[in-house]
Amino acid sequence: MQFETLAIHDGQTPDPVTGSVTFPVFQSSTFEREDLNHHREFFYSRIGNPTRKALESSLALLENARFGLAFASGVAATMAALQVVRPGDHIVSGIDIYGGTYRIFEQLLRPWGVSITYAEDESTEGYEACIRPETRLIWLESPSNPLLRISDIRALSVAAKRNGILIAVDNTFASPYFQHPLEHGADIVVHSTTKYLGGHSDVIGGAVVLDDEALHRTIKNYQAAAGAIPGPWDCWLVMRGLKTLKIRMKEHEANAMHLARLLEKHPAVEQVLYPGLPSHPQHELAKRQMSGFGGMLTFALKGGLPAVENLVGRLKLFALADSLGGVESLVASPAKMTLGALSAEERLKRGCSDNLVRMSIGLEHAGDLEADLLGALSPP
Ligand SMILES: *Cc1c(COP(=O)(O)O)cnc(C)c1O
Repeated sequence: MQFETLAIHDGQTPDPVTGSVTFPVFQSSTFEREDLNHHREFFYSRIGNPTRKALESSLALLENARFGLAFASGVAATMAALQVVRPGDHIVSGIDIYGGTYRIFEQLLRPWGVSITYAEDESTEGYEACIRPETRLIWLESPSNPLLRISDIRALSVAAKRNGILIAVDNTFASPYFQHPLEHGADIVVHSTTKYLGGHSDVIGGAVVLDDEALHRTIKNYQAAAGAIPGPWDCWLVMRGLKTLKIRMKEHEANAMHLARLLEKHPAVEQVLYPGLPSHPQHELAKRQMSGFGGMLTFALKGGLPAVENLVGRLKLFALADSLGGVESLVASPAKMTLGALSAEERLKRGCSDNLVRMSIGLEHAGDLEADLLGALSPP
């Protein structure tokens, strides 16, 4: 079956008792045992809940994977995936990563005795040059946040396997509709389901998706023990989002491509970073690795931070907000918002200049978004 069919039907067949065509929200913390020696499949909702199980099964299918695990947030999913490292281990990470992942690396893992090297050069050779004998994991985002750089997952997976290292990919920006990292050789996929999978800016959630049984056991055990699980309602909201992922992603992309082309010709814009543009340095790789380029769009304005401030102040349809992947368009300043906790020097090292604008392109009419953007970019 094809992606959109799975998204609508898997794990979500009508309820045999009531005929309900949507999966029920099992808002129950516990389930009655049969007797002292036997419990049913579900007995306590931290360990397992039917609504969460339905979501986890959908998540696995959409990534073409054996196992899916749902978490209370994307960072909880990241933390769970990072249970594959132990004190003394070393991680090679992309440098352009989600700020919350950077915080986990620096504030939680490093004090715990894990070392991390950020590959400043995102080519395969750049990552390989950072590998040490004690490296256990390569962590990357592709497309990355906020620069939308693309890493070659297949080549990096080959390099990782050669060195006996695991590779984890945060697939939040592409979504499983546009990219399947496991098929390129990755071991672990992480999502913030808060973004495109939920898709409506109304829920916080995360997911880990993978094929390996032993890794699944480790991470599932962590899920049960550490307890960062999503509630049944939140699972249900993400499931509802998944059913329309395909049509949303196609539309996000069409709108993003339209605006990217427009911005590339605009005199107020210094540079546009969108993997779908031939001018993007890894456009060919993006075409090979992804089936679409997504709805995130980053660009640099002439005129520095004051120009960014002017733009976000004048936009009417784009809300100034931190998240992404919802139906409504959002705008953010990576320097002031998502990476605001870093020092100016750290930000610059990551290529995040003050004049960057990151947009999550929503599902409004392209012409309305265009008019809003052009109006806000025009001289006052
Ligand atoms: C938002 C995000 C996360 C963290 O997810 P939360 O749901 O906010 O915890 C991780 N990675 C990427 C790429 C994100 O955009």
